[in-house]
Amino acid sequence: VSAGALPARGIRPLVISGVTVIAMDGRRPVRDRSVLIDGGVIRAIAAAGELESAGADVLPAHGRYLLPGLADMHVHYWEPWDHALYLASGVTLVRNMAGAAFHLAMARRVLQGLEPGPHVVTASPLIDGIGDDGETIWPNVQLLVQPEKAERLVERYAGEGYQQIKAYSWLRLDVLAALGRAAASRGLRLTGHCPEGVSYEQAMDAGLSCFEHLAGIEVGHMADGQRPAVRRRLDAASWSRHGLRAWVGQVDLAAIRGLAGRMAAAQVWNCPTLALAHAASRRPAEALADPRLRYVPPATVAAWASPPDLDEWLDLRRRRLDTLRDVVSVLHAEGAPLLAGTDASNPFVLPGFSLHRELEELVAAGLSPHDALRCATSEAARFLGQSAQWGTVAVGRRAELLLLRADPLHDLRTLREPEAVFVNGYHLARPDLDRLLQARAAWARPASCQPPLMARST
Ligand SMILES: [Zn+2]
Repeated sequence: VSAGALPARGIRPLVISGVTVIAMDGRRPVRDRSVLIDGGVIRAIAAAGELESAGADVLPAHGRYLLPGLADMHVHYWEPWDHALYLASGVTLVRNMAGAAFHLAMARRVLQGLEPGPHVVTASPLIDGIGDDGETIWPNVQLLVQPEKAERLVERYAGEGYQQIKAYSWLRLDVLAALGRAAASRGLRLTGHCPEGVSYEQAMDAGLSCFEHLAGIEVGHMADGQRPAVRRRLDAASWSRHGLRAWVGQVDLAAIRGLAGRMAAAQVWNCPTLALAHAASRRPAEALADPRLRYVPPATVAAWASPPDLDEWLDLRRRRLDTLRDVVSVLHAEGAPLLAGTDASNPFVLPGFSLHRELEELVAAGLSPHDALRCATSEAARFLGQSAQWGTVAVGRRAELLLLRADPLHDLRTLREPEAVFVNGYHLARPDLDRLLQARAAWARPASCQPPLMARST
């Protein structure tokens, strides 16, 4: 698939006729509506029949459901071809969590309409401290150990166009607080990992307002006054042996409830990425049986399948996933806001498809399908301060929409095969989405030299 094989950006107004609108604005679905979109914007919503006579193209959609496009609020988007998987899965916006110039350029290309999408919101490069081995967790990230240098760093990232500041696990609390002050003075959100050994309460006080993966939520919230394992180096063995065993089943949910109430009052967010924990809880043989791995280059799959297939490891991982669901349940019950994010493209966390898994995980944690979908639509937009632009089906919002064959509030599995995706002024019908998937599969085959639809920036 080249850009020419996708439909051109829509130039004619279109009426989606007779559809059931699931607006995600808190109201019940409304049947037999017609929705006029033009120039990538929702221009009118009326009873079926009222808009059809004005000369616009008409897409009959009786018996179909119209939902806002989905946002995956935690991804790592390094491969331009991932756009095919996102779009075919109905993901019209991603929040990229480790930013680089590449992501700023991609975000601009989408905004200019040169690519259908998804829209890219990107956090800054990772900002990390140093661990016991004298290193940041990952190479080539931004090291910050002097709080007085936080202001200049945040100023630079704001100037470059990053929309959030990304904190990482080895940061010291005083450095986190300096980043929090600097980010607040620029109107940017400080988001990321709660640094190791720091409690969520301490990190909130320091200015962190969105926590990823529920990582470290056990600190200060363990049963019977136990102290959680603190990691100060990237060491999978110690994490599995000590961290997981101490963690599983020992988190004090009553203490988490108190934290959740505080997070609700302060409107501090969590992006639990249960899809990541789910992927890590599966036996490699089971994960390898997923037919959707045809969209991933075999060399990548081989690298993913390397972790040990130890029964003890798997048992701990499964129990950890159960505990994470319990924590999400408490957060939701107390009104702490949640985002749907996946940590794609980590091992076996496939772009696009994994967001459907995340929604199913949120339902497994006790959210209704409607509440789970809010985390990927209206709540995601609210989190970014963009509720006036997208996240609901309403006049004046961007026409980022999914046309579905069944009611997703009844069965989320209908999201896996949207009949059409409207994004960024493009109308991608099911055959277009299938072509994108075929092209992605061809790209993933060995010795493929398919040029990407989007050029990778340098
Ligand atoms: Zn991540």
